[in-house]
Amino acid sequence: MCIGESVLAMFYPRECLICGHRIDTDENICINCMRSLPRTEHATLRNNRLEDLFVKDNRFVRGAAFLFYDEEGNIRRLIHELKYSENPRLAYELAYKAAQEYVSTDFFEGIDCIIPIPLHPRRLRQRGYNQSLYIAKGLSDVTKIPIDTQHLFRVRNNPKQALKIGEERERNVSNIFKTSYPEEMFRKHILLVDDVITSGLTIQSAMSAMKTFKGCSISVFTFVHSKR
Ligand SMILES: [Zn+2]
Repeated sequence: MCIGESVLAMFYPRECLICGHRIDTDENICINCMRSLPRTEHATLRNNRLEDLFVKDNRFVRGAAFLFYDEEGNIRRLIHELKYSENPRLAYELAYKAAQEYVSTDFFEGIDCIIPIPLHPRRLRQRGYNQSLYIAKGLSDVTKIPIDTQHLFRVRNNPKQALKIGEERERNVSNIFKTSYPEEMFRKHILLVDDVITSGLTIQSAMSAMKTFKGCSISVFTFVHSKR
């Protein structure tokens, strides 16, 4: 059984998460709503707003947030669903859709592997799954780019970001990741994926740990870049 099928077998929502209309497939979002979610042009737009967060690092290649953040609209509901519902199928579905749309661009060009931002083992036990892994699976099922979960680990759980500001927040996400067998990642072009990117500090912290991957390049994919 492939991963897609096993995910399908687990979840059979009957109503579109956005419009509430009945869906006869196993999907979370109906075709009309999926089509109407506001896309960014990030797949082909260099120096976009997401990339601004990471360009200072000379290993950074490109970045894309699939959808526009919209404080009032459907995207907010979607983020809430992604963050708080136990619905990894939704993450898979959105990533699969994004990859289908991005394969006609050069966004995935040269990428050797996809690394989902790891959860701390304790958090993983609580939640039961890592949502970023489902995003990686959605992308990988379309692009056939392999997923790597063996070289980047989370060694600290970062406390709630919302309560922290400025420097304190930065300290909060430093050294939360560690790498292993970095020599196996020599000169790889890695796509880091996370569901929602706000300040970019988590990704920056992962990038900092990945300094042990000599000669690597790094790109980033997320669903939404939401600004606080
Ligand atoms: Zn709908």
